[in-house]
Amino acid sequence: MSQLSNSNPFIGPSGKKPTCMEMLQFILDNDASEEQKAYFKQHMDSCMPCFKSYELDMSIRQLIKSKCCGGEAPEDLVDKIREQITQKLS
Ligand SMILES: [Zn+2]
Repeated sequence: MSQLSNSNPFIGPSGKKPTCMEMLQFILDNDASEEQKAYFKQHMDSCMPCFKSYELDMSIRQLIKSKCCGGEAPEDLVDKIREQITQKLS
């Protein structure tokens, strides 16, 4: 039962189905609409790689937030840390 596959809000006018990475990037960049966020949340329940990457990214952000100046984490710093961790994991 995958009634979701027909209503993926990430599918653009081109009809191209986005990959997990593309969806994740969208969410993490905060470009996603409420509909897309909801869809992705559901997707994470059944997709371990997405779940793990998302969790990883969120914990990096939390860590930076709590450790340095209490402000928002700079994007490039988050990217750098995420890259390093993903390299170690794979
Ligand atoms: Zn996925």
